[in-house]
Amino acid sequence: MSATKTLAFILKTQDYRDTSLLGHFYTRDFGKVHGIIKGIRDTRARFGSTLEPFSLNEILFYRRRRGSDLHQVTHVELLDLFTDVRDNLERLSYASYFAELLDQIVELEEPSPEIFDLFKDTLLLMTAGASPKRCARIFEVKLCGILGLLPEIKACVICRAPSPDPAYFSAKHGGIQCKSCSSGAGAVTPVSQGTLSFMDRVIRFDVKDLHNVKVSQEVGGDLEKMMRRFVDFQLTRQLKTVVFLEKMGFN
Ligand SMILES: [Zn+2]
Repeated sequence: MSATKTLAFILKTQDYRDTSLLGHFYTRDFGKVHGIIKGIRDTRARFGSTLEPFSLNEILFYRRRRGSDLHQVTHVELLDLFTDVRDNLERLSYASYFAELLDQIVELEEPSPEIFDLFKDTLLLMTAGASPKRCARIFEVKLCGILGLLPEIKACVICRAPSPDPAYFSAKHGGIQCKSCSSGAGAVTPVSQGTLSFMDRVIRFDVKDLHNVKVSQEVGGDLEKMMRRFVDFQLTRQLKTVVFLEKMGFN
């Protein structure tokens, strides 16, 4: 076993045996890592971090040999709690959603500094005052892009007709369909050209350059529905944080 130091976002923690915690970390160098923090449960302060979800920490962990994916984390030092995000219930709820979505959608130990940076940039965008909804659409679209899961938005997924107008979105087929391919096809929803072009911008632009792009409420709502269906289709269960966002009327 060798000690490894890396930057890590806390995705979640849960009790483990009598006094330990099991942490899900999203690290910059190793992707998602599961680690045991021994004997910490009642003495978190000693650790230099309270291990809050979506806080940024530096961690030291001992990598196990192959065959075990539970590493031993011996040191956690808080670098950024994202206090401005945490101080507001709506922002806090959205950031918790990002952490849960990331935890559910990525595989263990597949390194992606790009995803790590996306998480950080999205939290910084929210800190800078961007609306949590906008941050959520940016995070969802860009995360799907990095994971190679983006829906097709340039052509009908069935007949390959370019830029169909009107267009209908199918989560099951992973993209848009033209009118004739959609008739009698079951679960499709109309999606406006404005929504498709905003999504195209989100894919192409840097996170920080998306703060001020003008978007109508209709486009924002449309993209939200489309990404919700699409993301839910990729996951095996409904996210607790999404249920909470709905209950609070934040979405
Ligand atoms: Zn078609």
